[in-house]
Amino acid sequence: ADDVAEEEVPVYIVGTEPYFPPFEYADENNSNEIIGFDVDLINAIAEDQGFEIEWKDLEFDALIPALQSGQIDMIVSGMTITEEREESVDFSEPYINAGLALAVAVDNDEIQSVDDIEGKVAVVQQGSTGSQKADELKDEGVIEDVIYLAHVNDIILNLQSGRADFMINDLPVTQAYISQNPGVIKIVDDQIQSESYGFAVKTGNTELLEKLNAGLANVQADGTYDEIMEKYF
Ligand code: GLN
Repeated sequence: ADDVAEEEVPVYIVGTEPYFPPFEYADENNSNEIIGFDVDLINAIAEDQGFEIEWKDLEFDALIPALQSGQIDMIVSGMTITEEREESVDFSEPYINAGLALAVAVDNDEIQSVDDIEGKVAVVQQGSTGSQKADELKDEGVIEDVIYLAHVNDIILNLQSGRADFMINDLPVTQAYISQNPGVIKIVDDQIQSESYGFAVKTGNTELLEKLNAGLANVQADGTYDEIMEKYF
């Protein structure tokens, strides 16, 4: 008989909010399967670094608390690296740039740029950098109100119904929505704020962070990263 030593492959629990195409979303053909740019990228890193992944679906604003409580080992969810979040988690090196865009219903002629949002109502994703931006605008007295929702699809329904005037959300996600659903919303400003995404681990989990950074560097160097980019963008 072969005398193969059993190697322990670590399994990490990855938290994500899987309603965020093209980064993480349910496969149309098999809704139990999560696909997307982030999914392919972390799978490639896992393969490179010899670990396995188990996915856990959470709402976006539940991800950091779940990491802190040890319910998950990392966050892979289009999460922007911010100074404020760095106080609660450790981030990997940035893996993609994705700024915030301002979008309105396609028939909205009133808001043609960020200069036209005075007195208007924003709709944003709860706990997102877009919601922080909207909060700032409200605190400054620029906009009238902010509606917070969990998922991008519901945000867009609020633009269609006229409950909200504009949304602030990640540019690649808004662009992906528009290409999948033409004629519903339009982008009026594609660079409200520039941002980069990172993977997050529990503060001080340097072992996992080093694997993520090493794996990211390797898949960037060997062309895998570019292939994934090509596939989703
Ligand atoms: N990039 C935004 C943030 O980090 C939104 C991310 C998301 O909704 N998945 O706040």
